[in-house]
Amino acid sequence: MSELSPRMKALVQPTLVNFEPYDPNFSETKINLSANENTHVMPEQVKAAVLEALSAVELNRYPDPMANELRAEIAKWHNVSPENICVGNGGDELLFNFFVGFGGAGRTLLNCPPCFSEYDLFGSIVGTEILNIERDSETFEIDEEAALKAAKDVNLAIVTTPNNPTGDVISVDFVDSLCDACPGIVMVDEAYAEFNNPNFFCESLLKKHDNLIILHTFSKAFGLAGVRCGYIIAAPDIIDVFAAVRQVYSVNSLTQAAALAIVKNREAFREVIDDIKSERARIFAEISALEAEGLPIHVWPSEANFYLVRVKNAAEIHKALRDDYSILVRDFSRVPGLEGCLRITVGTRSENDELLAAIKSLLKEN
Ligand code: PMP
Repeated sequence: MSELSPRMKALVQPTLVNFEPYDPNFSETKINLSANENTHVMPEQVKAAVLEALSAVELNRYPDPMANELRAEIAKWHNVSPENICVGNGGDELLFNFFVGFGGAGRTLLNCPPCFSEYDLFGSIVGTEILNIERDSETFEIDEEAALKAAKDVNLAIVTTPNNPTGDVISVDFVDSLCDACPGIVMVDEAYAEFNNPNFFCESLLKKHDNLIILHTFSKAFGLAGVRCGYIIAAPDIIDVFAAVRQVYSVNSLTQAAALAIVKNREAFREVIDDIKSERARIFAEISALEAEGLPIHVWPSEANFYLVRVKNAAEIHKALRDDYSILVRDFSRVPGLEGCLRITVGTRSENDELLAAIKSLLKEN
């Protein structure tokens, strides 16, 4: 997509002048490993439960604004009260509303790039100043000392675990210290948490820190990216802010029904998640073996359902995968701090086989 027209540059809010529409870079391919979706087929009994729930929805009625039935079920799952939950039209909407509620002109966000680009985008749309504490250029670790020091002077902070696109995790202790250090609100984006050790959850910190927000989505482990549903867990007065700024009917009835069926059947995803984790280990081993053979590729360990790799001629490899093998991965090679990097979603066994074979032959040709 291109930059705004000169006419629009003259008309939009000053903060938007240099903006371009977000481009997820989709193209039709046989195998799409570009957006960290769950590419496995949904377990049969869950699919049946979702379809049954959808068929019972009264389409002529407005949805319940706060999705109370879903909210109550999510609360039970996480052992909190429904007042601690706000459901959104995807995690994206909740991220946007985080900035509408707490960001804006004269406010500063602590951000740790490379990370999910929407933080910077959404923060900037509402005029939030972004204070970047860059991750280590080789390991992608957060400089915790620098982040904690910077946190003292910001209004909001956001960290992601596992991080997109680097796949690494942060410790609960670091989040604990961040909540202590930051006088404002701390958002921990756990969009990929289900792929990590299930014992890792910052939830244990919610009782201690009333400035903590935890973000989850149904788009990744639970395979509902098309349905658009996410939720946050936070103190009730924080939830009130999200309730105040949200569009009243943003979470439609079909979405509420589908997500409720997923929550009730969440245990059925265990096998799929375990399969993705074991495929993740296999891909890591295979790509590491290519690196050990001397081929120009490096892979970072990941606790999510994707890998970041650095390859020689990354943009060409991305294009050849797409055009010659019909496999789409995400090209980050022109993003500052991610030069030469591609992000590859862990797919099904056969998708991963095709991807690995294609990468091997492209690297050998290169
Ligand atoms: N957080 C992170 C780190 C993500 O990668 C994404 C999706 N790419 C989201 C939040 C939002 O996901 P969704 O809007 O599909 O819930």
